[in-house]
Amino acid sequence: MTVIDPFVALRAATKRYRIADRDVVALDAVDLDVAPGEVVCVLGPSGSGKTTLLRVLAGLETLDGGEALQAGRPIRAPDRSRALVFQDHALFPWLTVAENVAFGPRVRGATAGLDRTVARTLALVGLDSFADALPRQLSGGMAQRVAIARALANDPEVLLLDEPLAALDVGTRLELQDELARILAEQRLTAVVVTHDFDEALVLADRIVILSPSPGRVARRLRVDLPRPRDRASEALLRLRAQLVTAVLGASRGGKAA
Ligand code: ADP
Ligand code: MG
Repeated sequence: MTVIDPFVALRAATKRYRIADRDVVALDAVDLDVAPGEVVCVLGPSGSGKTTLLRVLAGLETLDGGEALQAGRPIRAPDRSRALVFQDHALFPWLTVAENVAFGPRVRGATAGLDRTVARTLALVGLDSFADALPRQLSGGMAQRVAIARALANDPEVLLLDEPLAALDVGTRLELQDELARILAEQRLTAVVVTHDFDEALVLADRIVILSPSPGRVARRLRVDLPRPRDRASEALLRLRAQLVTAVLGASRGGKAA
């Protein structure tokens, strides 16, 4: 499936790692197009190259072949226009919630209106009343909200999320999935979300890309053409979920993209 005007793209992206005299192919000629404002979820088993794919898009890894592009220009280094959020929130434990969120803008000297930016971003994730709390005083779900707020405070154009909700209990995860969907839509962010949660992908994504087990190749692609906010109990979503399960099973048996 070709997107006419991709904002973020991988072209035949290939990445190898050398592990104890062995070449491991983490990404094998991966093509990916993400249109402006589009949310693409990447699903795949452990070791299929999902984190590598995000790190390449973040500019943290260089490719051995192919290209990573943002607005048609090669991605060569990290840039604040692309924010990466990890599974583990990685907040600074000695800084308050507000100071954690202010950290990025402060480091690059963007202090004008910073208090307002922090307040607005914390309100967006529903944590305005916890500005002065320390990370150890927060639940896992709250800490992950702060991590998302911290990414948004840098005013990114692209949000890269690596299993951002995987460490949370089921109830909190469902709640944050809905919130994340709302935030992505409200902020009109272009996003690539790595997950291995089918329902998360169905709630968040415009399109789902399924990677095959190592070496990471695109095995299947699926469009999620459902109205937002997504209704988890709708027949259309459940039908698509059945298709997704079939596609994931097919991918794990080594089928290549049609
Ligand atoms: P996933 O996130 O889908 O679990 P990863 O992208 O983390 O997959 O890893 C894909 C493959 O690349 C794995 O075989 C892993 O061992 C290898 N790999 C990832 N990062 C490194 C690294 N920094 N050094 C060596 N090998 C790596
Ligand atoms: Mg990973």
